[in-house]
Amino acid sequence: MIQRPWYRRKSSPTNCREVGRVLQHYLDNAMGPEWAARVAEHLEACKDCGMEEETYQEIKLALGRQRPAVHDDAVSRLREFGRSLTDG
Ligand SMILES: [Zn+2]
Repeated sequence: MIQRPWYRRKSSPTNCREVGRVLQHYLDNAMGPEWAARVAEHLEACKDCGMEEETYQEIKLALGRQRPAVHDDAVSRLREFGRSLTDG
């Protein structure tokens, strides 16, 4: 059985689980701008994700500057968050 990589899939990450799954790529800037925009959109709109706004704003700002200047703390918190979504 072949598992398609996230970027091959047609569906966009519009639910919490999908977002959690691609969050790693999002953080690594390994995501196309369209996808990144969708993830950003979701994180901004979905309070269920439990995203701390402060953390997210920090990351959004850093990505907006196209620089990997996100605080390690914020990144690790986001990674943890992504894991919590996909592990369940
Ligand atoms: Zn969500």
